[in-house]
Amino acid sequence: MWALQAVRLPDGVVADVVVEGEQIARIGSGAAAGVSSVVDCRGKLLLPAFIDGHVHLDKVLIRDELNEHDGTLSGAIGAIHERKRRYTVDDVRDRAREVIEASVRLGTTRLRSHVDVDTIGGLLPLQGVLAAAAECADIADVRTIAFPQEGLLRDPGAFGLMEAALEAGADVVGGMPHWEADEPSQREHVRLCFELAERFDRDLDMHVDETDDGGVRTLEMVADEALRRGFVGRVCAGHVCSLAAAPHDYAERVIEKCARAKISIAANAVTNLVLQGRGDRGLIRRGMTRVAEFRAAGVNVLFGQDCVKDGFYPFGRGSMLEVALISAHAAHLTTRDDLAFALRAVTEAPAQAWGVNDYGIKVGARADLQVFAAPSWAEALRLQIPPEKVWFKGRLVAENSVRSELHRSS
Ligand SMILES: [Zn+2]
Repeated sequence: MWALQAVRLPDGVVADVVVEGEQIARIGSGAAAGVSSVVDCRGKLLLPAFIDGHVHLDKVLIRDELNEHDGTLSGAIGAIHERKRRYTVDDVRDRAREVIEASVRLGTTRLRSHVDVDTIGGLLPLQGVLAAAAECADIADVRTIAFPQEGLLRDPGAFGLMEAALEAGADVVGGMPHWEADEPSQREHVRLCFELAERFDRDLDMHVDETDDGGVRTLEMVADEALRRGFVGRVCAGHVCSLAAAPHDYAERVIEKCARAKISIAANAVTNLVLQGRGDRGLIRRGMTRVAEFRAAGVNVLFGQDCVKDGFYPFGRGSMLEVALISAHAAHLTTRDDLAFALRAVTEAPAQAWGVNDYGIKVGARADLQVFAAPSWAEALRLQIPPEKVWFKGRLVAENSVRSELHRSS
């Protein structure tokens, strides 16, 4: 048993937090009394460790080896093909491990990774990410989503590989209906994904409408299918960029359906801000989904890192603090309530999308925690400081220190 003494909780209250084994055992003023092993925090901020609910660990860190392309989604997908053909399990494992380790250092201990499943790479990307997840099991919880990046109908053979991926240990069924050639194929793609999810009893986490074309509307197909099958509270839709460009009446209708189907929305501002609206002149669409309207409708919205130095996005370092800051800019989040929403989008919201119940700063939750040398979430977000300490299952897994000296003339 050990304790964090005098930590500031996200709501501003200063309290002690006692950890026993892998769990939070007690929270409260004076709760650390009698505990022999104590970390004196003197009012520093305690947060639950972050969750990255949308990342692609198989593709991370390949950017330097790709040919330059036009910067669009399809340009990036095409540019990755050649590199994907050269993947080995060790190559994918090593890159994924590097980003998992970087993420843990910066306070993220749970990651849900899409992994390409297609006839180019077969199951090799999945094998690589599963190997990295196993090697990092002492510092992070990594789950995988079987993701048909090249489509299901556009890529004959991908459906069989999806079945094999789920049998081989992928946790969640992915999808990308807007990538199919026409509307009937998109609808069939959605149907196939739900069929797999039901057959294997897995949740769904699909790439939905990652395009600036407001006429692309597979989100409604996904919501309709979820409602028709009663598959409620088990679907996450990622990106959802086209909704920003779609007419308002459609947006209102589909957001209401998402709320009814308890669909979570993974908004990935960091990647989509650089990827979408490339052809626009004048008023440029930025590809950020309608965060304010989803939020107003009570839909669970999370922010994901999505990409780390891959064909889609040249930046990213596994920092959900950075993701929260960039997303706050993209979604006009500035008030106190807004900033609390941004914190929720990298903590409680992905936990809800993932169906994780033992999460947060509460008695009985798994002790995945982090302490910042900042007096509040707003200051941690503004200053972008790394967490001083990170714990996973009650064990200290990372420490950071930042040294800065100012040299005056006298
Ligand atoms: Zn993605």
